Amino acid sequence: MAFDFSSFTLLNEGKTKIIYDNPHDAKSVYMVFKDDITAGDGLKHDVIEGKALIDWQTNRDIFEYLNRKGVRTHYLESPQERVSLVKKLDFKINLEVVTRRIAAGSILKWGGMEEGKRFDPLITQFHYKDDALHDPMLDDTYIDYITRAKGSTEFQEMKKMNAQVFEILEDAFAQFSIQLVDFKLEYGLIDGEVTLIDEITGGSFRLWPYAKENPQFNKDNVLSELNPKGRLDKDTYRMGGDLSAVKSKFAAIAEFTQKFKELP
Ligand code: C5P
Repeated sequence: MAFDFSSFTLLNEGKTKIIYDNPHDAKSVYMVFKDDITAGDGLKHDVIEGKALIDWQTNRDIFEYLNRKGVRTHYLESPQERVSLVKKLDFKINLEVVTRRIAAGSILKWGGMEEGKRFDPLITQFHYKDDALHDPMLDDTYIDYITRAKGSTEFQEMKKMNAQVFEILEDAFAQFSIQLVDFKLEYGLIDGEVTLIDEITGGSFRLWPYAKENPQFNKDNVLSELNPKGRLDKDTYRMGGDLSAVKSKFAAIAEFTQKFKELP
């Protein structure tokens, strides 16, 4: 039977999803995906019919894969189209954690950074999540403070987990000759443990197909090995692509992530 969310308590409505209380379990909540798409701290906004369903599929397949790989996530199950059940947060760490393997997007504005530069180890940026403040980047001591208790282990744990998640998903997309360029994740505390939360969908990362069969990644700049013009991600929207193109890119991502269940 389909859920009738009109009788559920709405806990929070964000740009891309709505969170409802679960009347049958105080330790979980429902996450309902929306067709909305935004960019530029919410200044650009559109509705793409069918995007919620695509995002729901991508998110389901990525989180089920991460759970299978032993990552601690909030994801429980996807009981109905566009609806996921997730563990209720005890404490939200109010950060956007951006991780980069390849230089693209906003990092190109810094100090003459060239597009395609490869970072090993990964670059990780912690931003305070606040559109009005344009998500400012934070100092380590302050991050340690807002991840709950000063001098605690949560920040270190989050950093370690974040790099593991990047490597797991980078390897998974590599099976389909796609480079995970960068992504943004969010974390919270559940039962006292740092846990991966929120959604991972077409808007969360940059994905560039390989430009050739056997790309060489053992060099400083790998732009010639990749095909950014074939991008499968939200940059299509940010760069002003039409909404049907954005939708078909997001659908292509869902096609790949659907195959994650066949990966070991
Ligand atoms: O724009 P920038 O290069 O800083 O983005 C880095 C990565 O984080 C990209 O994959 C982008 O899609 C993602 N991101 C996001 N939400 C934001 C900011 C960035 O998902 N608010």
